[in-house]
Amino acid sequence: TEKETLNFIEQMIEKDIKEGKNESRVHTRFPPEPNGYLHIGHAKSICLNFGLAEKYNGLCNLRFDDTNPEKEDTEYVDSIKEDIKWLGYDWGDREYYASDYFDQLYAFAVQLIKEGKAYIDDQSAEEISAQRGTPNQPGQPSPFRSRSVEENLQIFEDMKAGKCDEGSHVLRANIDMTSSIMQMRDPVIYRIKKMAHHRTGDKWCIYPTYDFAHGQSDSLEKITHSLCTLEFAAHRPLYDWFIENLGIYKSEQTEFARLNLGYTIVSKRKLRELVEEGHVDGWDDPRMPTISGIRRRGYTPESIRSFADKIGVAKRNGISDVALLEFSVREDLNKKANRVLGVLDPIKLIITNYPEGQTEELDAVNNPEDESAGKRKIPFSSEIYIERGDFMEEPPKKFFRLGPDREVRLKYAYIVKCTGFKKNEAGEIEEVYCEYDPATKSGQDNTGKKVKGTLGWVDAAKGIQTEVRLYDRLFKTENLNTIEDDYRNHLNPESLTIMPHAVAEPSVQDMAPGTQFQFERMGYFIIDKDSEASKPTINRTVTLRDNWAK
Ligand code: ATP
Ligand code: MG
Ligand code: MG
Repeated sequence: TEKETLNFIEQMIEKDIKEGKNESRVHTRFPPEPNGYLHIGHAKSICLNFGLAEKYNGLCNLRFDDTNPEKEDTEYVDSIKEDIKWLGYDWGDREYYASDYFDQLYAFAVQLIKEGKAYIDDQSAEEISAQRGTPNQPGQPSPFRSRSVEENLQIFEDMKAGKCDEGSHVLRANIDMTSSIMQMRDPVIYRIKKMAHHRTGDKWCIYPTYDFAHGQSDSLEKITHSLCTLEFAAHRPLYDWFIENLGIYKSEQTEFARLNLGYTIVSKRKLRELVEEGHVDGWDDPRMPTISGIRRRGYTPESIRSFADKIGVAKRNGISDVALLEFSVREDLNKKANRVLGVLDPIKLIITNYPEGQTEELDAVNNPEDESAGKRKIPFSSEIYIERGDFMEEPPKKFFRLGPDREVRLKYAYIVKCTGFKKNEAGEIEEVYCEYDPATKSGQDNTGKKVKGTLGWVDAAKGIQTEVRLYDRLFKTENLNTIEDDYRNHLNPESLTIMPHAVAEPSVQDMAPGTQFQFERMGYFIIDKDSEASKPTINRTVTLRDNWAK
C-alpha cells in the first residue's frame, strides 16, 4: 500500500497529539462571514477543517463570523449551511455565532481598559492612520494614549449606550507603536456603527473588529487548531497578544495558502459585483465559482472533496489548474452517470431503404462502468438526427465520421452508408441520405464488417426538444491575481453558448432537475432548475476528455 504523506498541518497535529498538547484533542472551526455565498476557496477550507476533525476523531465548529453588520444577512447564513451540508459535512449542534459573544467581548474590552491595555481615541481614522508609521519607521503615540482608566471606561460605556456619534471615538489596544509588525501598533478593537445587526438587532451600536473577535471566539470555543489563510499571518502576534493578556484558553493560529483557481476569481466582493452588475445570472449561475454555481453546473460533492484533497495544503500561494477540477468531476461522473444519446446541433439523416412506417426499440447500455445500471430501450426509425459536425461534404481522410460514400455505425443500431445529401439556400447541409445494412444490427451483427466511426443520434419523431447550455471559462485570463487593469476587462464574452435546437432521446423527458448523465461523446450534463415539462433545460458540466468509446 501507498505510504501516505502528511501535509504540514497534519504533521503539526500529530506532533501535538503525541505530546499531549490540548489533552490531545483536535478541535477546528470553519468561520465564514455571512456576507455572500461560499466559493470554491471556502470549499477548500471546509474540507480542510472538517476533514481534519474527521481524521483525528475531533470536532469542527461552524462559526458565523458576524461581527460586521454592514453586509451580513440571514440569507447568507442559510446558503452557507446548505452548501456545507451539500459538500457532505455535518457540524451537528456546534453552530456558533461570534455575535453571541458580544457581551463577553465587551467584558474583555473592559478588562483590558481596567488594566491600562486599551484606551479610547477621539481622533479620526485618517489621523490614526497617519500616526501609524511605516514598517521601517516607528509610529507616533496618540495624544489620547494616556487617558485615565476612569475616563476610558466612562466613554466606552457612553459609546455602548449610543451617546456618541459614529466616528467620534474608537477603542484601541495599547500595545506598541514601534513594533515592526504594523498590526501591533495600537490596533482599533471597537468602533461605533449605528447599524442594526442581522441577529442582535439594535442591541449594539459598537462592534468589535475582526482581530478582537476572532481569536477570542476561537478561545471561548476551545478551538485547538485555528486554520486560516496566509494573509492573516501578520495578525498572529495580535491573536496571541489578546489571548495572553486576557488570560484565556490558548487557541493557536496556523496559516495555509489560499486556493486560487485559474480563469476565475475567488473573492466574495468581486463575485457580488458580477452578480449585481449583471455579468452573470445570479450567485448560482453555473459559470460562477460559488458552491451553488458549481452545484448547478453539475459538479458533485465527491468531486470537490477529491479536488481539495488533490491540491493539498501549501504554505505558499499559487494557482490551481481548472483541469484538475475537471478531471475530478469526470472521474466521479464516469462511474455514476448514465449514458444518454443526444444531438446538440442537429441535421436530419434519412435512411432511404428502411421500411416505411417501421419503428424499432433498440437496447442501449446505461453505464458501461456499472453493470447494475442496466439497459434501456431507445426508439429508432427511418428519420433520425445526427450532429452537424459529424458530416462533411468533402471530408479529409482521417475524418472517421460521415461523408459521401462513407460508412459509420449508428450507436446501438446499424451500419449506414451515405448516398447523398441536400443543402438549403444558404448552402448549409439540411439532410443526409443513407442506406442501412439490416444484417449489422448491434449485438446481432455477424457480417464481420468493420467501420471506424460510431455516431450518436436521436430518433426524429420520438426525440425531445431541449435547450442545452454550454459553458466556457468565465474569464479569458488564467491568473487574475497578476493583472493590472480591471478584472472585468478579462471576462470571456463567450462563456455561455445556448444550443436552442438540441434534441435528446426520450428518457431525458422524465429526468428531474439535478439528474446527471453523459450525452455520449459530448460530455457530462445536468438537468437545470429552469426546465419546463415540455422542454428540459440542460447544463453541460464538462466535456469528455476521452474520445467516444464503442
Ligand atoms: P473573501 O475574500 O472571498 O470574502 P473571506 O476570507 O473574507 O473570503 P470568510 O467568509 O471570512 O471569507 O472565510 C471563511 C473561511 O474561509 C476563512 O477561514 C478563510 O480563510 C477561508 N477562505 C476564504 N477564501 C479562501 C480561499 N480562497 N482558499 C482557502 N480558504 C479560504
Ligand atoms: Mg473574512
Ligand atoms: Mg472577505
